[in-house]
Amino acid sequence: MKITKIHDLYFKELISEKELQEIVKTLALQVKKDLPENEVPLFIGILNGCFMFASDFIRQYKGDCEISFVKLASYNGTESSEEVKKLIGVNEDLTGKTVIILEDIIDTGTTLQEIYEIFRHKNLKELKIVSLFFKPDVYRKELPIEYIGKSIEDKFIVGYGLDYDGLGRNLPAIYQLTTQPKMKNIVLFGPPGAGKGTQATLLKEKYNLVHISTGDVFRYNIKNETELGVLAKKYIDAGDLVPDEVTINMLKEEVNKNSDANGFIFDGFPRTESQAQALDAFLAEKNERINGMVALEVPEDLLVERILERGKTSGRSDDTDEEKIRNRFNEYNTKTAILKDFYQAQGNFYGVDGVGTIDEITERLSNVFDKL
Ligand code: AMP
Repeated sequence: MKITKIHDLYFKELISEKELQEIVKTLALQVKKDLPENEVPLFIGILNGCFMFASDFIRQYKGDCEISFVKLASYNGTESSEEVKKLIGVNEDLTGKTVIILEDIIDTGTTLQEIYEIFRHKNLKELKIVSLFFKPDVYRKELPIEYIGKSIEDKFIVGYGLDYDGLGRNLPAIYQLTTQPKMKNIVLFGPPGAGKGTQATLLKEKYNLVHISTGDVFRYNIKNETELGVLAKKYIDAGDLVPDEVTINMLKEEVNKNSDANGFIFDGFPRTESQAQALDAFLAEKNERINGMVALEVPEDLLVERILERGKTSGRSDDTDEEKIRNRFNEYNTKTAILKDFYQAQGNFYGVDGVGTIDEITERLSNVFDKL
C-alpha cells in the first residue's frame, strides 16, 4: 500500500491514478451523451482543487466546448461580520449558455449552494454540476448534482488537486487520512556488529517496546530445528540473507503475537527494499507506521574487530569465520545500506554515532527516541 506523509499526517492511497482516469473518462462520456447533438457547453472549473480533474475531464470530452475557471473567495465584509462568498473570474456574458460546473469534491454542499446562488442571476439556458467526489454522509442540501464520479466516506482526502494545508495537490492519486497511530515503531539500523542487539535490549526496557530481532528469531528456530530453522540455516551459515518472503512472513507473525504492544524496535529488519515496503504496507493496514529509522554509524574496520571478538563467546559460526563476516558486509552494502535513502525520502532517517561506550551510545539513541 502506498503511504505518503504531508506535514505531520500520514495518508494512504485510496484511489489509484488508473482508477481516477477511468472515473473521469466515464463522466466525460456521460455528460456528452446527455447534451443535445450540437450543444457547445461552457465548462467552468472551481479552483483551486479542480485543476487536475478539469484538465483530464476536458481532454476526455469529445466535442466542441468552452472552458473557464473561477475561484470562490471568502470576504469578511467591512460593514457586517457576515462572511460573503464571491466568484472571481466570471466576467463574460453567460446569457443563454449551458454552463457545466466542474467541482473536485462536494461534502456539506455549502460551496455548491453559493454556486447555485451566483449563477441563478445569469440567465443561463441550463446549469449542471459535475463533481468528481461526493460525501453522501455529510451532504446537507437538496440541490441537484447531476454527475458524481465516486461517492466516498467522510474522511479527509488529498491529491489530484486537493490539498492538506497547501500541500499534496500534485499527487497523481487520491490519498486518505489514516487514523492517528498509537504505537512508536523504530527501525534500529546499522551494519553487522554495530551494536543493535545490545542497544535494543536496553532501549526496549526504557521505552516499554517489544524488541524483534529477526536474527534471534532465526537462531531460535535453528536451535529448535523447526521447519523455518532448517530452511534458514543454510543462508545464515553462509552469511547470505534469508529470502524476503520467508523473512517477511516471520516478521508479521512476530508482530501479530504482540498486538497490544506500545510499539516495536525492529532489529535486523528490514534488510532489503522489498522488506521495507512490506513493513510499511503491513503497518499501514493497522493504521500504524515507522516513526523513524535510527542508524548506528560505525566504521567497517572496527566492526570486523568487534564481530571477531563477539565470536569468541557468541557461539555463532557466522561470527568466527572472516569470509562469512565479509559476505555479511557484502550483503549489507549491496542490499541493505540503500534503506537509508528509503527512510530519508520519508523524512524518517536519523544517524547516530555508534562509536563510544555502551552508555554513551544509549544516551545518543535516547535523544533520538525521545523525539520520535
Ligand atoms: P543478525 O543477527 O541480525 O546479524 O542476522 C543474522 C543472519 O540472519 C543474517 O546474516 C541473515 O542470514 C539472517 N537474517 C536476519 N534478518 C534478516 C532479514 N531481515 N532478511 C534476511 N535475512 C535476515
